[in-house]
Order: sequence, then C-alpha cells, then structure tokens
Amino acid sequence: MTQRVVILGGGTGGTLAANRLRRMFPADEMQLTVVDQDDRHVYQPGLLFVPFGLTHPEDIVRPRRRQLHRGIDFRQTAVDRVEIGDEQVHLADGTVLDYDVLVVATGAVLVPEETEGLTGPGWMEKVFTFYTPEGAGALEGALATFDGGRIVVNVVDMPIKCPVAPLEFLFLADWYFQERGIRDRVELTYATPLDGAFTKPVASDQLGSMLAEKGIELVTEFNTGEVDGEGGRLVSYDGREVPFDLAVVVPLHGGAPYVGRSPGLGDELNFVPADERTLQAKAAPNVFVIGDASSVPASKAGSVTHFEGDTIVENIRRHLAGEPLEPGFDGHANCFIETGFHKALLIDFNYQTEPLGGHYPGAVGLPLLKESRLNHLGKLMFQWFYWHSLLPGREVPGIGSTMPTAGKVAAPTPTGED
Ligand SMILES: Cc1cc2nc3c(=O)[nH]c(=O)nc-3n(C[C@H](O)[C@H](O)[C@H](O)COP(=O)(O)OP(=O)(O)OC[C@H]3O[C@@H](n4cnc5c(N)ncnc54)[C@H](O)[C@@H]3O)c2cc1C
Repeated sequence: MTQRVVILGGGTGGTLAANRLRRMFPADEMQLTVVDQDDRHVYQPGLLFVPFGLTHPEDIVRPRRRQLHRGIDFRQTAVDRVEIGDEQVHLADGTVLDYDVLVVATGAVLVPEETEGLTGPGWMEKVFTFYTPEGAGALEGALATFDGGRIVVNVVDMPIKCPVAPLEFLFLADWYFQERGIRDRVELTYATPLDGAFTKPVASDQLGSMLAEKGIELVTEFNTGEVDGEGGRLVSYDGREVPFDLAVVVPLHGGAPYVGRSPGLGDELNFVPADERTLQAKAAPNVFVIGDASSVPASKAGSVTHFEGDTIVENIRRHLAGEPLEPGFDGHANCFIETGFHKALLIDFNYQTEPLGGHYPGAVGLPLLKESRLNHLGKLMFQWFYWHSLLPGREVPGIGSTMPTAGKVAAPTPTGED
C-alpha cells in the first residue's frame, strides 16, 4: 500500500525531511507532498551579514521547489488548518489532503505587532529587525548612513530563532564601525530578557566577557513592554528605559497561526508539543514535528533541525512498520558565533551537556569555545553545505541526532587565537 506523507512547510526541516524520505522509500511505497505558502527559500543565517553589506538578500534566496528531489509533489498555498481526528489538512486554496503521516515543519513566525509601539512610528526608519530579508536590507541602508550615536540591540522575549544571532550582530557592528573609523562615536548596547549574554552558563560567561572587552554594554533581565520609535526609547515592564538613536529588535516569535486553528495540535504560542527524544507530536501518533515549529526545549536553529532529521525519518519508518520509536534526538545543537575580524567561535551542546571545549566533530576538527579563523571559514562555507548537503539530505559521517563526545574536553578552554 502506498503511504501518504504530507509535510507542512518547505523550509529547512520540511525540505530535508522530504528529501531523506524520498531516498528511503520508493514512490510506489510512499507518496510525498510538501506544502508551503511561497516559493522563496531563504538561507536565514545569511540575514546576519546583509546589514553589513557582506551579502545581499538576492544571494541567499532560492526557489523552494528546486530544493526538492524528483518525485516530491510541491503545493504552493497556505495551510489553513489540520483536522487531526479526520487525518486531513485543509489548504487555503480549498484542497483537502488526506494523510497517513503528517510532518509539521512550519517553523516560527515573527509577531512584531504584539509589542506596543514596535511597528508604530519609526518602524523601518530607526527601528529595524534583521530577522527578515526586507528588514535586513533596510537596516543595511540605515547603518551605512549612521555616523554616530546609540545603537541598541534588543530581544523582546525568548524563544527566538538562533539565540546567538543578536550577539553576532553586536560583534559585527563593533568591527564594522571600527573599519569605518567611527567606533568611538558609536555606543553599542545589548538589552536582553536573559540574566546574562546567553542561555547556557559557560558560554554566557565567555560571551559576556567578550561584550565587555569590546565595550558593548549589557542590560539584563530587560523585558520590553514598549518600543517608542519617535522618542527613541525602549521601556521595560518594570519601568526601566534604554534610549537609542537606532534600535535593532528581535520581535516575539510564535508558531504558525494555522496551528491555533487546528484543534489539539498546538500550545498557547502555537508551537507544537512533541516528545523531546522521538519528535512524535503529543497530538497523535502519526504526527511528527521537526525544527522551530515544536516546543521541545532545544534551540531554534537550523543545526538542530538538521540533527533532528535522522530521528524523524527513522521514526516515521518505525511508525509505519509498527515498531517502537527510537528516542534518538538528544537536543544536539551547534552554532557558529561570528565575532568580527574574520573570526568566529563554535559551541556544541545538547539537552544535558553545556558547551564544552575541545574540537568538533572529533579529536581533529573545528575548535570549540575558541575564537578562530577556521570557525569563521566554517561559518562562511556553511551556506554551500546548506544548499548542497543539508537540504538534499545527504549523510554526513559523524554528524547526527546525538552530540559527539570524541574530541571534547570537560573544562572550557580560554578564548584565544587558534
Ligand atoms: C537571522 C537569523 C540567523 C540565523 N542563523 C542561524 C545559524 O547561524 N545557525 C543555525 O543553525 N540556525 C540559524 N538560524 C535559524 C534557522 O534558520 C532556523 O532555525 C531553521 O531555518 C528552522 O527550520 P524550520 O524548517 O523549522 O523553519 P523554516 O526554515 O523557517 O521553514 C518554515 C516554513 O514553513 C512555511 N509556513 C509557515 N506557515 C505556513 C502556512 N500556514 N502554510 C504554508 N507554509 C507555511 C514558511 O513559509 C517556511 O518556508 C537563523 C535564523 C535567523 C532568522
């Protein structure tokens, strides 16, 4: 019997899951349909570089359809809702898709309108976000003409995609203004809801020290209640204010709105609860979740989405074969952190383990928790890897659902040139 697998979302997770399933199952055993609302696949890590003129929006976008292997049906329309009980997906164009297995891969959406004033006066004039191609492009123009004053980078609340990206933005801004010879005229501030620079204590200490060394002010436990674009102020719920001439805001994130219209599928933020190790949705045994769409306590990152790929594909196979699921995903995440001056750090961690020193993925490899040129080259090369290996679903030895322990050392190594 041909199994019908419907994948909602044709971004990082939906594309790699579809391509891996197509390799595993011939077309007469599995019919694969991917649904996405548009045909613009954005390489989102590239958005960080756009404001600094280091890449351009058109260089990081490709058609979605072309990233899918032959034999995968692509539907370009929005998902309206899922009826779990009927095992059906209702699309905005009126089509109804029946499924045997559903994969939710619709990621996270930005909801800037949820923060008072954020999209009001000053939005896209002196209040920006680099989390969208349009925002990153507009910010490039604003930075190019900025000749002094106070820039604040603000995360409104967690969770956000790529929690290190705001820090990378600040490190690159420090470098950018030094290159332009006006760093002494620019004050850089990071206002975060966290109690430190990052979520993981070891990395947080190191990144906090780097902010201090670069003369970047850190304002912690700042829960933004209002963005006053006209007056140039961020106001927190406890009444603190951070003034700015230019604000770079990472808005609140939520799951896709259709999740809220799908009885039993999501939580109050429209993220989809799932078992954190098998990635099976709590809603039904034939529903699986990959990537930012889920509420599992892993980082919302492309690397996590990639590492989840092994587990989700294997568990779909097991589910269809009537076998017990594999608790294969351990929360494995890794992130390159651009630090400017052609250097980057790399961190690697999972649900249980803090970022460790040593090397990745084995005893010989990229240095962990250390600034190096090699890591910067790794970050740049990642775009090629994304289009040509990660999305097509190629197996990469040593990289998968569990964090490798070879090459790691328990104590973090100090920051230094590798
Ligand atoms: C600025 C920035 C920098 C980043 N840097 C890094 C990095 O350095 N390293 C890293 O690992 N990760 C990084 N990320 C995060 C990474 O890009 C995401 O975690 C990853 O893309 C998640 O994949 P996904 O498949 O869950 O979601 P996406 O790739 O976002 O795909 C979701 C898809 O669902 C579709 N969709 C949503 N709703 C509907 C609907 N109703 N109907 C139809 N389709 C719908 C969307 O159009 C989209 O194509 C970064 C993200 C940003 C924004």
